Amino acid sequence: MSIEIRNVSRRFGAFTALADINLDIASCELVSLLGPSGSGKTTLLRIIAGLESADTGHVLLDGVDATRLPVRERQVGFVFQHYALFRHMTVFKNIAFGLSVRPRRTRPSKAAIREKVMELLKLVQLDGLEGRYPSQLSGGQRQRVALARALAIDPKVLLLDEPFGALDAKVRLELRRWLRELHERLHITSVFVTHDQDEALEVADRVVVMKQAQIEQIGTPEEVYDHPGSAFVHEFLGKSNTLSLAVADGRASVGNFNIIAPLTNDPLAAYVRPHHVDLFRVRNGTPVIPVRVKHVNAAGAVARLELIRTDNGEAFSAEIPREQHAELGLVAGDEAFAKVNRVKIFPPV
Ligand code: ATP
Repeated sequence: MSIEIRNVSRRFGAFTALADINLDIASCELVSLLGPSGSGKTTLLRIIAGLESADTGHVLLDGVDATRLPVRERQVGFVFQHYALFRHMTVFKNIAFGLSVRPRRTRPSKAAIREKVMELLKLVQLDGLEGRYPSQLSGGQRQRVALARALAIDPKVLLLDEPFGALDAKVRLELRRWLRELHERLHITSVFVTHDQDEALEVADRVVVMKQAQIEQIGTPEEVYDHPGSAFVHEFLGKSNTLSLAVADGRASVGNFNIIAPLTNDPLAAYVRPHHVDLFRVRNGTPVIPVRVKHVNAAGAVARLELIRTDNGEAFSAEIPREQHAELGLVAGDEAFAKVNRVKIFPPV
């Protein structure tokens, strides 16, 4: 089922939670709504679900205006971080719930419900646990039961709000990979809210970056990461350094990097990811940024060096392969030279 959001706005008193949102989600797509706390992600998800109403605008499901359609007629399944399971019901009953409360006319037979629940238990890899109560499950298992419960009604749209937010890092990592695989098998149009950029980049077909009630950028994970449209997106989607530009003769530069585009009167800054900074012991001809090493942390896959520009005192960081770090042998207090690559120029946030 496709989802179209047309000019949707929502205010809570004087506070604007969503300001004229437009978004198209294709059938079978897995889209992630990513943004800082309070950017409006949950409000948008709740409006798609029918749990919240929009002040203005429309939601179209498969091209049909669903703006006034009640929740139960939208065929959506939810998994929310705090959408707790029914504690007094077994796993079986929790999963069966959506089917067993249907009016008699549309309710499947007991045998059909049982078959469906067993099939879902297998899908979420919890077969054999149908007799347990939620308190007898781990956090990761509970969220898988919540997903099975959401899938029981054969939803046309699956809405997930920080489904793994309360789980520890390792379980979170496992579950997001598993969710991606599940999506590839089921192909249900899915919208996934998160404020964790790694989660969004790993799970989603497309990422919708939100900021202060608006959509800042939409794209595939590669597009938003490699081609951020603003300083906000550059900073939100990974590690980011901000460096000021040196302006001379109407041209701006940061070390080896010159800006070709004409300069406007608006302030601009250079943004570069730490792993796009190269370090050298000696100045090697091209313009470079002279630095002093402030701190080195070589624990992990890469060595991270905190640097201070000796030309203007700005702090930034570089991440270089461990082998290169071993060759360079830089320690705190050393002087070195930095080259920056893949620099992006934006008005500062
Ligand atoms: P988080 O990641 O913290 O959940 P979010 O991006 O999902 O944030 P929303 O939950 O959509 O943000 O909330 C957007 C803003 O609207 C927040 O500032 C929130 O306080 C406000 N808000 C949401 N629901 C209500 C409500 N029922 N009444 C008043 N304000 C609300």
